[in-house]
Amino acid sequence: MSLSELPVPLSFRVIRAGSTETIVLTCPKCGRVGRLTRNGYNSHGPKFRVEHDEDYCSLTFFDGPVYDEVRKIYDSVRVKR
Ligand SMILES: [Zn+2]
Repeated sequence: MSLSELPVPLSFRVIRAGSTETIVLTCPKCGRVGRLTRNGYNSHGPKFRVEHDEDYCSLTFFDGPVYDEVRKIYDSVRVKR
């Protein structure tokens, strides 16, 4: 698999409840649906988690193009209020 190709198209939706916004997306790592959250930073920028029912997948800069996509999604939702 080429790193320039995404394994799955990233589909996501935003659930708004009051002032809380939850990003739900298809996890680019395992293909299951999960909740996107930020989990701190490393020297390359924010780290993310896709939280599933019993576990989660981590997404960092080192995951390549899928990380960029997830970061774009996160930023697009978090920036506009
Ligand atoms: Zn996952």
